[in-house]
Amino acid sequence: MSEAPVDPAQASGAVPPADGESPAQSKKGAKKAEAKAKKEAEKARKAAEREAAAAAQKAASGGNEDLAKDNYGDIHHTIKVAAEKVQLKHLGEEHVGKTVKVRAWIQNARMQGAKMAFVELREERNWTIQGVVSASAEGEPVSKQMVKWVGALRLESFVLVEATVQKPLEPVKSCRVSDYELHPTKVYLIAPGPEVLPLGLNASNRAIASFDDEDPQAPAAAPAEGVENLSITDSAAAPSASLSTHLNNPAMHKRAPVQQAIADVRMTVRKLFSEYLESKDFVQFEPPCLIGAASEGGANVFSLPYFDKQAFLAQSPQFYKQFEIAGGRKRVYCIGPVFRAENSNTPRHMTEFTGLDLEMEIEDHYHEVLHMIEGVMLYIFRGLQERCKDQIDLIRAIYPSDEFLLPEPGKEVRLTFAEGQKLLREEGPEEFRNVSDDEDMSTPQEKALGALVRKKFGTDFYVLDKFPESARPFYTIEDPENPKVTNAYDFFMRGQEILSGGQRIHLPDLLEARLRKKGIDPKSQGIKDYVDVFRSAGVPPHGGGGIGLDRVVAWYLNLPSVHLASYYPRTPKRLTP
Ligand code: ATP
Repeated sequence: MSEAPVDPAQASGAVPPADGESPAQSKKGAKKAEAKAKKEAEKARKAAEREAAAAAQKAASGGNEDLAKDNYGDIHHTIKVAAEKVQLKHLGEEHVGKTVKVRAWIQNARMQGAKMAFVELREERNWTIQGVVSASAEGEPVSKQMVKWVGALRLESFVLVEATVQKPLEPVKSCRVSDYELHPTKVYLIAPGPEVLPLGLNASNRAIASFDDEDPQAPAAAPAEGVENLSITDSAAAPSASLSTHLNNPAMHKRAPVQQAIADVRMTVRKLFSEYLESKDFVQFEPPCLIGAASEGGANVFSLPYFDKQAFLAQSPQFYKQFEIAGGRKRVYCIGPVFRAENSNTPRHMTEFTGLDLEMEIEDHYHEVLHMIEGVMLYIFRGLQERCKDQIDLIRAIYPSDEFLLPEPGKEVRLTFAEGQKLLREEGPEEFRNVSDDEDMSTPQEKALGALVRKKFGTDFYVLDKFPESARPFYTIEDPENPKVTNAYDFFMRGQEILSGGQRIHLPDLLEARLRKKGIDPKSQGIKDYVDVFRSAGVPPHGGGGIGLDRVVAWYLNLPSVHLASYYPRTPKRLTP
């Protein structure tokens, strides 16, 4: 360390006195100059000391002071990123070269040498983009330390990123946003993922390996194909998981793009159902879930304590739809939960499902209703093709399916139940040679008929009309020309029932007679109130149907189970999450 140079003449005080100064005055001036020189020398010494300490510190850290330390790390309330927030799906040419802000999940993160890391960022659905984090020579805005930190971020962490948008040299095929990439300048961790994911996204986005909530007869899941196109991760190596592993990990199950695509399809079906019916002057109403009597058959109804009484969960909105018609509405519909206490552990059943129900006045013939339901279903199927194309393609890559065949306009397939049985007897598998016109169809029969109809008529959607009397509930009207059958129908998709409906009895005496014929006491609890509604005012002829939303979604997409089409499936074995 060198001291600041001091003029020896000043230091010795041998400064010649200024003109007119007395010797005493010049002595005082010399002292003052000496003090000033000392002060400056001390100041210089301290500055030199500070410089030396900084140099020593730099040497100790290998010359690596982290100049980007404020640009990454755990987020805290003082951190604000001012750049424009964009959603990945809205990224376009106008953003190239600009700085944007993105909030996303870490779908993948890996180091590429010491100065570069690749991250894959994901937003809702399968909107993914590649991020390239590279340290600059100056060490800011991105330093080597920052690169290392980003490269080690845990999967499914939620981060806030500031980045410039650039065009990659080649499209990034592994990401849905392939024409742009992000070059992060700031990365903050909002919520870390766990050390080990209980269900990784790749596994979660594969076809379900086994349906362990169901019985062993359940069909095996379709093989996964094309999943690798969704991620830069080596998804082929990811194992698939069972349905219970999925359902026990709701966050990761739901993060899978395939599940979000199914949910989109489901919500679109609901919307299309309402849209069509409202265009046909239907009005929506809300039936209760809690009811006071198990009016539609005792065995498969849930009961629960209700103060000092017992209540039940509605097995369908049937009576309430009819009350609306009795109440002066011409056309009504409702969408809501339906509860069935059936111990059915199959891919078709749940103990709670969503019903899409409608009921309407009949003017001349109950086929007015049948055609209305056919119309709404075809509107739904065509609407899905238009509005959910991306989702359907994504789902198909994981659960392969043939296209859902629709009848050409004017060529809708409507068979009577007897015609369906005849077709099965004559052209179906051997075991159905003797099926009877008086007994309801079994599920294998329905499926075999579905395959025959597809082959013969080129459609996966058709109607069976005129079900046998024995197969329908007491409120169904008999065919006036043949009381062995009813004015009632089922609708099918890919050979599986999705709707039951028909014309209802609107005259109280007829209703009582049918109840007695079915062995039900018209004065029994719940039933009497129902019959009395038809006595209390003249009710027009009417009919309708109940569609199972979960089945429509599952069979349209050819999913292996309705449990995959439901948000939170309720089955005999599952009440959580
Ligand atoms: P299944 O014979 O297949 O058990 P169901 O004859 O009891 O059905 P309905 O009472 O007629 O069915 O109900 C109307 C529609 O509701 C069915 O066509 C189906 O789409 C749906 N549905 C009925 N039960 C269930 C269930 N347990 N889980 C899911 N959907 C169901």
